[in-house]
Amino acid sequence: MRGGVWKWRYILVFPRVLVYDRNSFSKVVAQILHPAFHSLSIFRLMQETYEIRLFAKHLPLLGDTTGNSVKLGRVAATIRGTVHDPLFVRIGELEQHLRSTRQGVAFAAWRVERHYSKEEVAAAELFLLNVPFTEVSGEEYGTQYEDLLNCEQEIEQLEYTGGADFRIHRKSIPCSLNTKQIGPLRIAFSKLRRKLDVYRLWGGELIVSEGFVCLNKNERISGGAFFPIVDVRNDNLTLPLQFSDSATGLEILSIAADKHISPGDWKFWEWLNDEEQQPLLAKMLAPQKRAIRDSEKSGSVRNLAQLTLRSNPLQISKQSQFGETPFDTENKDFHRCDGGIIAGRRLISPLSVLRSSWDGSDLCRTEVYVGGQRQGLFRPYQLLVVSKRLFQAMLKHKMKGFHFEIVELI
Ligand SMILES: [Zn+2]
Repeated sequence: MRGGVWKWRYILVFPRVLVYDRNSFSKVVAQILHPAFHSLSIFRLMQETYEIRLFAKHLPLLGDTTGNSVKLGRVAATIRGTVHDPLFVRIGELEQHLRSTRQGVAFAAWRVERHYSKEEVAAAELFLLNVPFTEVSGEEYGTQYEDLLNCEQEIEQLEYTGGADFRIHRKSIPCSLNTKQIGPLRIAFSKLRRKLDVYRLWGGELIVSEGFVCLNKNERISGGAFFPIVDVRNDNLTLPLQFSDSATGLEILSIAADKHISPGDWKFWEWLNDEEQQPLLAKMLAPQKRAIRDSEKSGSVRNLAQLTLRSNPLQISKQSQFGETPFDTENKDFHRCDGGIIAGRRLISPLSVLRSSWDGSDLCRTEVYVGGQRQGLFRPYQLLVVSKRLFQAMLKHKMKGFHFEIVELI
């Protein structure tokens, strides 16, 4: 668990303000706990901290920075604090002013981290996995995509004009919800990040290690399907699942052989992941209790796989907010078309989803996309959400490559 610094000593209980320390807190909560209480947003122990890289020339405009950590560099000042502290609010006002007067932006980068208590993690049911990007895209190595719709969206783009200066201008770009991957993902394995068990390509696809696939098989994790990928160096498909070491696996191979397909063909995997083959696949995976070998853990690229989500997409609730910055109340990136919905550039609040949309799967994704619009090889993507069972198994097996946040279910 990251963080764990307890600065929240105040909890508002209508109509009084009570002050607790951490130890007596749970006792008091136990006495007053009521189901309705959970839905109150003030009943929150989670702590949100921020780091903003403000352009240094704006720093004098912010006034007193006592109480915040400020590290001044040549171009940017790195400011840290707790979300909604007075300096955070002033940075937001400055940002809104600069944008509304088209003078540019106040900061170059921002990050908000949410820290949870052990109790909060124990009580959570779903976890958002923030997965790192690798700047490799399937498109640049010949992965095939099919365009399904013709859709354009107007966006505002920052144009760098030298020094720490920017200009904002509008332009039309094609919507990227209209494309569908056809055939295997093709990438250069030598360009990939090592020592991670889950990461995202620039085009939005999820890549997982052999260890991750193995863990999912051993724990009978639901909601996902794994597809082999191609290393452009040798043009061979990887082999995320083993068939020859079980009777059911051999049966699958034999049925496939009648159809003239084998695990070396892409068609085999499309067929295997069809609804019809699911009972047989589940039977094959069930008795396999293979230990996760060292060679399969982080770092091995031999049998990387593409993870695709099959579970019911999670619908977000009104409480989930998206934008380009934590202060973005207008979210100009919102886009809805036949291909789906782009909710915005980034999630700027805790993720809140409708419980009724969760089908109980371990591997899930949001119905909405984030990432803004397609920019070059970059494509918007759906957020990855996992069940507590999978989350705990990932921690137990020391899977690497993600930060987690607790998902609110309402
Ligand atoms: Zn569109």
